[in-house]
Amino acid sequence: RAKKKGRSGTAFFNGEMNQFQLERLQLENYLRHALEKNEMMLYYQPQYCLKESSISGFEALIRWNHPVLGIISPRDFIPLAEEMGIISDIGRFVMLEACKQLKIWHEEGNQRLSVSVNVSGRQLQSLDFIFEVKEILESTGIDPTFLHLELTETIMIENVQHSLNIMKELKALGIKLSIDDFGTGYSALSYIKDLPIDILKIDQTFIQNLLNDGYNKTDIAIVKAIITMCQVLMVDVVAEGVETAEQMALLKQFGCQHIQGYYISKPVDREAARKLLQKR
Ligand code: C2E
Ligand code: MG
Ligand code: MG
Ligand code: MG
Repeated sequence: RAKKKGRSGTAFFNGEMNQFQLERLQLENYLRHALEKNEMMLYYQPQYCLKESSISGFEALIRWNHPVLGIISPRDFIPLAEEMGIISDIGRFVMLEACKQLKIWHEEGNQRLSVSVNVSGRQLQSLDFIFEVKEILESTGIDPTFLHLELTETIMIENVQHSLNIMKELKALGIKLSIDDFGTGYSALSYIKDLPIDILKIDQTFIQNLLNDGYNKTDIAIVKAIITMCQVLMVDVVAEGVETAEQMALLKQFGCQHIQGYYISKPVDREAARKLLQKR
């Protein structure tokens, strides 16, 4: 955008660019080269099965470690990458790395482990998306049932028909689909039964309101209702952001199958992930 403004002469050359615009331009510049400079890496956060008392999979979470700026949160740079039109490059990197890592875990004897990858809206809509997913499945040779793609409600509801077609193609490849941050979007419950969804992740805001100081009866009822609904629809549930033993116990009592959160482990690098797997 700054370039366009530059050409029309309004912001770029006449000294009108403010500190904020400069910083943003600098950040865009850094981000454009982050992949080639190997500044991006994946962390992995365990997803824990309450029934089997063991790790059932990991969610891959991207980290950008810039030599000057330090660690930058995906919440800050993913939206920027979307605007810049480079989200597909980053998304492809994440999926490839996650699938390579899954292959290693499977070869090390954890044959039932899954890996979850976050997919952004622009990435899902890109024309090459399905082609790239197929390519990654072929080149890594993983079993697609153990690849879970996390989409948010907002993504699915914008451009419904197109998203639904892509979701069906992904399902046809054998991949599992999951709704991320459930409860924070439009949350029309009717969508859940119409979408080809295998897993629903209850957003951490609901979980954090369980049993915290001055805990919220409404949130308890909502969480319980979501879990019951998923049981009826035969959709797996993952509760996100579980930080205490009390939250875990309550979720277990409600029949929740899987939890993810700092109580089990923070996101860790792959060496630490291997140690978590060996511990069980
Ligand atoms: P998300 O997919 O909902 O991921 C969960 C976020 O919650 C992660 O933040 C994780 O570190 C954090 N978290 C996990 N357990 C707890 C807990 O017990 N307490 C608290 N307070 N937080 C917890 P992170 O890694 O900073 O990622 C933020 C968001 O950025 C993700 O939310 C996801 O939407 C996005 N993101 C991360 N990696 C990628 C990626 O590779 N591609 C895309 N498109 N988006 C990504
Ligand atoms: Mg996620
Ligand atoms: Mg989430
Ligand atoms: Mg999120």
